[in-house]
Amino acid sequence: MAARVVLGDFEITLVRAGFYWWDGGAMFGVVPKTLWSKRFEADDANRVRLGFNCYVVRTGEHSILIETGAGDKPDHKARERMKLPEAAPALPEILAGQGIDPESIDIVINTHLHFDHCGGNTVLSNGAARPAFPRARYYTRRGEWEHAHERHIRDRISYIDANYDPLVESGQMQLLDSDFAVAPGIEMRLAPGHNRDMVVVTAASAGQTFCFFSDLVPTAAHVTPSWVAAFDLYPLETIDTKRRWLEDAARGQWICGFGHEPELAFAEIKKTKESFVASPCAQRDHAATTVLP
Ligand SMILES: [Zn+2]
Repeated sequence: MAARVVLGDFEITLVRAGFYWWDGGAMFGVVPKTLWSKRFEADDANRVRLGFNCYVVRTGEHSILIETGAGDKPDHKARERMKLPEAAPALPEILAGQGIDPESIDIVINTHLHFDHCGGNTVLSNGAARPAFPRARYYTRRGEWEHAHERHIRDRISYIDANYDPLVESGQMQLLDSDFAVAPGIEMRLAPGHNRDMVVVTAASAGQTFCFFSDLVPTAAHVTPSWVAAFDLYPLETIDTKRRWLEDAARGQWICGFGHEPELAFAEIKKTKESFVASPCAQRDHAATTVLP
């Protein structure tokens, strides 16, 4: 069953490139387990179940894929750690299964280059990484690509060059130096905190806005501003950035998607006295937005 909303002239579909299990302590940082375990049930190795969330925005003219999941490069050990199957269907197949022709994808956005967001950019065949979406133009931030190549001891494990370097070398991936509209109404906007150059993506049509928060708000539980993952490089900046974006989301009644939320496909944000809550996106009053089953 596809989770899909119609928003103005756009149709937006959640496509999960699979589920994985990750350490709950890393996911919730300084938040004690007594609190986060009310929202996420941990397994016997303290891992929680998460999604590799990708979204497809179809505008009539363009089919834009936001994120590509973990792809085919994680090795046996990494797969075991995340409880990933040894052989999972590739993202083009998953898209086709949701009624989206993978050949139609003409724009791919990576909010940042951690392997769990861009692993399906390319597929390995005979040792070479080839574009999974040959027709598409790929976009990410230049600063993120440069940081990936610094191989800092803190986060080098998150980067696999075969996910992006072949595309940069062939000119198929464009590295951006500023906020950028990939198509009318669809923007990549800098949102630092998780790392220096991560972007969030907004898609606006007919006065309605969809926002993909990526790892700024990885799950619906992370709308509480102080719930910041331990692997964020700049946690205080995450809190500031998150507050600002969630204020806008609440005020504008945006429809929101999260980077790794395992249940909610589309959420609405409400502001409370000191925090925010995310709830399933209900059928809207205005005719412009329809939530399809
Ligand atoms: Zn992530």
